[in-house]
Amino acid sequence: MSKLVLVSASKSKEDSKITVSKRKRTAVLTVLLIIAFIMTGTLVSQTGYAVSIDGEVVGTVKSGEEVDEIIRKVENDVSDILGYDYEITTAVELTGTVGGDDSEIADAFMNTVEEIDMMYILRIDGEYAACAWTEEVITAAVEEVTERYKMGEDSTVSFDNEVAVTYDYAPIADAVETDELADILDPAKGGEFALRIRTVVHETYEKPVAFEYDLIENDELYEGTTAVLVEGVDGTADVTDKVEYINGTEVSRVEVHRIITQQPVTQVVSVGTLFRPAWVSYGEYIWPAEGVITSYYGPRNIFYGYSFHEGIDIASDLNTPIVAADGGEVIFAGRYYGYGLMIDIRHDNGEVTRYGHCNELLVEEGQKVARGELIAYMGTTGVSSGVHLHFEIQVDGEPIDPMTRLPE
Ligand SMILES: [Zn+2]
Repeated sequence: MSKLVLVSASKSKEDSKITVSKRKRTAVLTVLLIIAFIMTGTLVSQTGYAVSIDGEVVGTVKSGEEVDEIIRKVENDVSDILGYDYEITTAVELTGTVGGDDSEIADAFMNTVEEIDMMYILRIDGEYAACAWTEEVITAAVEEVTERYKMGEDSTVSFDNEVAVTYDYAPIADAVETDELADILDPAKGGEFALRIRTVVHETYEKPVAFEYDLIENDELYEGTTAVLVEGVDGTADVTDKVEYINGTEVSRVEVHRIITQQPVTQVVSVGTLFRPAWVSYGEYIWPAEGVITSYYGPRNIFYGYSFHEGIDIASDLNTPIVAADGGEVIFAGRYYGYGLMIDIRHDNGEVTRYGHCNELLVEEGQKVARGELIAYMGTTGVSSGVHLHFEIQVDGEPIDPMTRLPE
C-alpha cells in the first residue's frame, strides 16, 4: 500500500505532516490542503506546490488532485508496459515552495518503478515483440536470423514484415540476449513474433533439353502409318533459375538464363498420306464369329479314330454371321471336301484364314474384303456333327493355333 506524505504550507509545523492512505488520497488531500491554508492564513499568496519524490523536487502542481491525476496516468502507462495492474508506491511530498518543471513529474514517477526502464524495443509490424538493453543485441539477432536463411553466397534475405526499433520504457524482466531474440524471430521456432523471411537465390544446374520432331509426309505410306527415319536424342543445357523461398520453402522458380551444352537431335518421322483401302490388312485378327468354342487346335479323338484338329470350332445358331478376321483377297470360295462350303482369304503378310462348314457364302474368289466384313453364314455343311464355324490360320501353308493370334 502506498503512502502519501503531505507537507502543507511553508510555515507548517512539524506535526502538520499527515500520512494518508492512497485509496482515499484525493478527497483527503483536498481537505487537508484547505485545513493547512486556514491554519497558516497564506491561502491568497499560495501559487502552487513543489512536488518532491524521495526528497528531490521534480515539478510543480496547482493542487493535490493534479498529482493524483499524474499518478493515475503513470500507473496506467506502467500497467500497459508490464501487462498487469501496477500501483505507484513511492512517497510524495508537496511543499509550498515553487520549483522544478511540472512536465517532468510523470517521468519522475516512471523512474520510481523498479520493474521498468528505458530500453531498446523491437517492434514487428508495429507490435511490441521484445526489448533489449542495447541496440546491438537487436541488430545482432536480426543478422543471425538472416544468416540462418541464407542459401549460398549470392542469396539475398529480406523480411516481409516491418521491423523497427524504438527507445522507450519496457519491462526489465523482458530483456533478451541475442540468441534468445534470434529464436523469437526465427519462423522455424514457430513463435508469435516470427518473421516472414524471403530468400532469393540463383540456382544453376544441368537439365535435359527435349528433342523436337520433324514430320515428313510420305505418299507411299498408308494413312495412319508412321516410320521413324532419324531417332531423336535429348540434349543438355546449363539452366539458371531465380528461386524464391518463404521461411525456407520454395514458392516460385523462374528460368532466367540458359546455355545449351549439347544440342538435341531432331527426330525425323515419315507420315503416311496414301489412301488406305478398306481391304488392306492390319496384321492383327478379330474373332470371325460369336459363339462357343467346342474344339481347340491340336490332337483329338473323333469318329472312333485319331485326328489332328487344324483349327478351332466356334458353335452357334444356324446362319450366325461370319466376318473376315482381317482384310485381304478371297482366294477360294466354294465346296471343299469335308469342309463343306468354305472360304480362304489371303492377307497382305501372306497368311491365309479359312472358314469351313458354312451354310451360305456371300463372297466370290478374287474379291477384296475388309476386316469385319460379312462373308458367310454359319452352317453344318461337309463332315460336321452340328452348326459351327471351323476357323484356321495358315502361315506358309501350315496351320497354327488360332488362339495364339486372336484377341482375348
Ligand atoms: Zn473344325
